[in-house]
Amino acid sequence: MLTWLNRVWLVFLVVVLAVGGWLGYADWQQIRHQYGTNLLAMAAAVADGTHLFLNDAHNSMLMLGNEVDREGVNHSITTRQALEKYLALEHNFAAIGVRSWQGSPVAVGADKGLLDALLSPSGRGVQPPLKINPEQHRLLDHCWRSPGFCMGPPVQTTSMHTREGAWMVPLFLQTQILDHGVPKPLRMVVLLPLQNGQLPFWAALPLPQHGSIFLLRNGGVLESRYPPPTKTSFSIRQNGIAAQSIFAHQGAQSDVYYGLATVVNQWRLGAWYRVAGYPLVAGAGLPRSVLVVAWWNRMTGPLAAMLTLLLLSVVGYLTVRRMARERIQEKAAAESLLWEAKERAEVTLHSIGDAVVTTDVSGRVTDINSVAESLMGYSRTEMLGKPLDTVFKIVREADHAPAANPVQRVLQEGKIIGLANHTILITAQGEERAIEDSAAPIRARDGTLLGVVLVFHDVTEKRQLTADLAYQATHDLLTGLPNRALFLDRLQQAVRAVTRQETLLLVGILDLDGFKQVNDRLGHDMGDILLREVARRTREALRTKDTIARLGGDEFGLVLPEIHHMEGAQHLANRLLQAIAEPMLLDGNSVTISGSLGFTVIPWDDGDQRSVLRHADMALYAAKNGGRNQYQFYEKTMDAQQEQLMEEITMTQEALEEQRLIMYYQPVVSTHDGLAPGQGVAPCQGVIGFEALIRMVHPQLGILAPAAFANALDHPRLARRIGCFVLDAVLTQGEQWHRDGLPLRMSMNISARHLLDPEFLNDMRAALAAHPDLAPEMCEIEVTESAPMLDFPTAQETLRACNNLGLRIALDDFGTGSASLSYLQKLPAQTIKVDQSFVRDILNDPRDFAIVAGVTTTANMLGLEVVAEGVETIGHLQLLKTLDCHAMQGYLFSKPMPADEVPGWVKSFN
Ligand code: C2E
Ligand code: MG
Ligand code: MG
Repeated sequence: MLTWLNRVWLVFLVVVLAVGGWLGYADWQQIRHQYGTNLLAMAAAVADGTHLFLNDAHNSMLMLGNEVDREGVNHSITTRQALEKYLALEHNFAAIGVRSWQGSPVAVGADKGLLDALLSPSGRGVQPPLKINPEQHRLLDHCWRSPGFCMGPPVQTTSMHTREGAWMVPLFLQTQILDHGVPKPLRMVVLLPLQNGQLPFWAALPLPQHGSIFLLRNGGVLESRYPPPTKTSFSIRQNGIAAQSIFAHQGAQSDVYYGLATVVNQWRLGAWYRVAGYPLVAGAGLPRSVLVVAWWNRMTGPLAAMLTLLLLSVVGYLTVRRMARERIQEKAAAESLLWEAKERAEVTLHSIGDAVVTTDVSGRVTDINSVAESLMGYSRTEMLGKPLDTVFKIVREADHAPAANPVQRVLQEGKIIGLANHTILITAQGEERAIEDSAAPIRARDGTLLGVVLVFHDVTEKRQLTADLAYQATHDLLTGLPNRALFLDRLQQAVRAVTRQETLLLVGILDLDGFKQVNDRLGHDMGDILLREVARRTREALRTKDTIARLGGDEFGLVLPEIHHMEGAQHLANRLLQAIAEPMLLDGNSVTISGSLGFTVIPWDDGDQRSVLRHADMALYAAKNGGRNQYQFYEKTMDAQQEQLMEEITMTQEALEEQRLIMYYQPVVSTHDGLAPGQGVAPCQGVIGFEALIRMVHPQLGILAPAAFANALDHPRLARRIGCFVLDAVLTQGEQWHRDGLPLRMSMNISARHLLDPEFLNDMRAALAAHPDLAPEMCEIEVTESAPMLDFPTAQETLRACNNLGLRIALDDFGTGSASLSYLQKLPAQTIKVDQSFVRDILNDPRDFAIVAGVTTTANMLGLEVVAEGVETIGHLQLLKTLDCHAMQGYLFSKPMPADEVPGWVKSFN
């Protein structure tokens, strides 16, 4: 920029100077020409004047000669008079002299001596005061010898009358006059004084200021000059530039010369002109300084203009240069800012953790950072300039279909685009990377789109983690089945779908029968393996559209959509039960487990999700109650039952908490006349003991029997709590009676659920330990016949442990369940209580009689005590006696009574 400016300015300067120089030169040439012309005119005027003057002088001298001739030169006075008269007329002449052939010259005017000398016949006679040099002498000699008119060289006189050294130009005229008719020679000389070197008639000429005019002889001798020469002198042959010009142009009439006058060391311009009729050259000259002054005067205007121009240009140049400098500085500052910004951007680009790719408006890669390189698997050089699509290949996670290129969208829509979720980047090596990205337009200041910046990062791990978390959040980790949350979700979807479809949706709950016992017996690890195996089998048994989820513990949820008829539902349920019931090998043990299934069917069940599950649960409950290893479908009646159950449970729980549960006692008596065979404990005809029977004190209804809250007694939530209450209450009472001297056997009813509870033995031990005054042998636990069936091994084990503690064991309600006699053998029971339903009808129903008789006989054989329940009449008593059953319990003896009545009753009974 600056150099350019300098150049322009330099060129301008050169042009201005060149134009100025050319103008000056042209002007100079013009001035020279003009002055030359003037000088030539002047020289011509001088030459003309000289010619005229000499002609005049010649003529006047001729006339003077004639006069002298007429008057006669011998009459010298007369001649003198003529001369004086002549001189008076011709005031240009300083002196005049005549010499006739007779000898003595006549002279008038100044410098008579000089005249005398000049009038002498030849140079030989030249005397002082005439001082002449050889050149003067030659010329004078020429004039002396020449007839007629002749102009001599200037001579210097020393006369007293004239100024010392004044120069005179002698004009000669050699003529003849008649002396008495005979022509005689006559010489006439006129002296022309050089005043200030100029001939007299020059005074009329317009002499150039500072210039000179001169008259040279053809041979170069200086005749006259104004102003008078200082470096040379008159009558000396000149060899200056004027003379050289004249010599060089012998045939020319005139010429203009210009050159260095070496004598005066001065450049001069001059012109010469030949004087017509005389060997003379007139000239005029000027020193160059005059021309220079004139030129200068003419040039001041243009020069001033030029200088102004130059000055302006300098000012302009400096201003522009300063502005240019400022602009350069500004530009440099802006560039440095730009550089800094760019540097910042670049460093940022390469140091951020995200991959960044920028493109131009045609979608070609313009820049990328190292993260993008490593993520995409291409090198920078491979990518630069390539269309982005060729290196940034993305597909949708779900179906691997090509995903829309975000850069194209930004180019089309001109706004920031976030990438669709679940995008997969295919790297150069074909690897898949889950990415999240966004693309934004890059715009120029005026808003035009320059390109797009694409930012993305690898979320493979994050997405995997999210997927894992999502899986964990929705699946059971042990079995890999959906968990409760996902089950509910699927259920919701299925319920929604079923309203659109014309098929049935089965919602079920599967509960494994006796899983807890397996878990307790074989350990939790085996329990886990079993659950996994059950999960695998059930899944295999189901269709792909079916869902089986683990709801917790050994409980599974089922969503079975698109069932076309109930036969299909039953078939599916049977398949499930079969799959579960197949024996499986766990740690070398062959284990068989069963499942109970409760189903509800939508759309027949039009309840909401919660009630759907409740209904399935009720059906499951029914299946469990129905003997397990079966399925049940929900029926409307179940709802009422359930309601009642809930009521019972709430009521019982409240009673327990409010200590409104109390114990009644009913005696078990012996009617034997002697010792009963196989047993030495029971006294004959006396009280064997008391069975503790629970009662609830109801605020409104008074004392309630267990039938009013039987379900609560075996409910998971209450069974153990009530059991513990009974143990404590009964043992406390027994212990009290023992202390009071009433050693009675105390029988307690134990619910199946409490019996099979892992904590049962501990509860038992704790209760016994709390009542040390009551021997365990005086305690009996009554277990319903069906309880051990639920988990025979556990029941067997627990009962044995109870025996080991010293407790007696009675099998209650015997005959109602499916217990066989071989079953009796396997259980460590000491008493069998024949259910009152058989006893009641033995008088009328021979079948019942047969059953009671059979049981009694077998029990007696096994050495077990048989207690007949529900003995209400003497008839029953007598018939039972005949059957060899002597232990009895019933209203015949006493209804259950409060504890405080017991001692009195015992007394009166005895
Ligand atoms: P259970 O153990 O078989 O008890 C005998 C039931 O028969 C008693 O009914 C009793 O009052 C009744 N009973 C006795 N003699 C006669 C009679 O001559 N005629 C008639 N009709 N009934 C007679 P209760 O007290 O209502 O008890 C019913 C059942 O409730 C019991 O049957 C027992 O299984 C259960 N139970 C009673 N107390 C408890 C308890 O504390 N815990 C547990 N788990 N169950 C209990
Ligand atoms: Mg009982
Ligand atoms: Mg009973």
